[in-house]
Amino acid sequence: MTSKTIIVTGAASAAGLGFATARMLAEEGNTVYVTDLDADAAEARAGELREAGYKATGVAQDVTDEAGWAALVKQVLAETGRIDGLVNNAGIAVLRSTTDLEKDSWDKQIAVNLTSVYLGCRAVLPAMQDQGSGAIVNLSSVAGLIGIPNSTAYSASKGGVRLYSKALAMEVAASNIRVNSVHPGVIWTDMQKVAIEDNPDQYDIINDSIPMKHMGEPADIANMVAFLMSDRAKYITGAEFVVDGGLTAQ
Ligand code: NAD
Repeated sequence: MTSKTIIVTGAASAAGLGFATARMLAEEGNTVYVTDLDADAAEARAGELREAGYKATGVAQDVTDEAGWAALVKQVLAETGRIDGLVNNAGIAVLRSTTDLEKDSWDKQIAVNLTSVYLGCRAVLPAMQDQGSGAIVNLSSVAGLIGIPNSTAYSASKGGVRLYSKALAMEVAASNIRVNSVHPGVIWTDMQKVAIEDNPDQYDIINDSIPMKHMGEPADIANMVAFLMSDRAKYITGAEFVVDGGLTAQ
């Protein structure tokens, strides 16, 4: 059993990767901060974890807001005295061809998926440096590794997350702070449900395109993130972890 203080962003969706990760980290004995744009849902998810006997706090947070990051770090340090882990999970996807993609949508995806990662890492690093330890996991995607049509802004943001993570890992490795990226394939969450609502025929097509012939489940990603957060991963940094049922191996 470990007992770390870990922030998970975008963790209020009951069916999402963030909550599956927060729940697994809490089950492993950690204190988790469940943050999300949706304040009520963040508190509801944290409440569910507390009712199950775990240590969890819900916090309203827009990950693109720099002042909000400072307030979150202040709160976590006041309440627990440390920040051992950050999972930059919040993300959005707007699937459009470049010619149909409005600049506002491009800007928003870069802000929520990429700039937020920089803001979050910058906010927690001073505490991790003072402690002499820390672990950061940034959610990228298979779209940060290979070209996927109608996802240029999303792919650019997730490709940015991949190399941001490696570059930051080089900056902080000597301080015993580890930074890694996780690259989910197609995982059945609200993000996929919304995308498929627009194109229902895609459900079977997507499943068939995956070598394991089915989408992943949130726990598949949570398992990887929880491992990277743990001391079992103490020599792993600057690396990328693909969890995709073989999708990008083809
Ligand atoms: P989801 O849409 O189910 O949940 C995302 C959560 O982020 C929501 O609770 C939402 O309220 C929150 N959020 C959105 N904007 C925010 C903001 N500005 N500030 C704070 N919170 C915000 O998504 P998911 O499928 O669970 O995906 C989680 C992460 O994994 C995302 O970064 C996503 O890009 C990535 N990912 C998902 C898949 C997949 O197939 N589901 C694949 C690859 C990568």
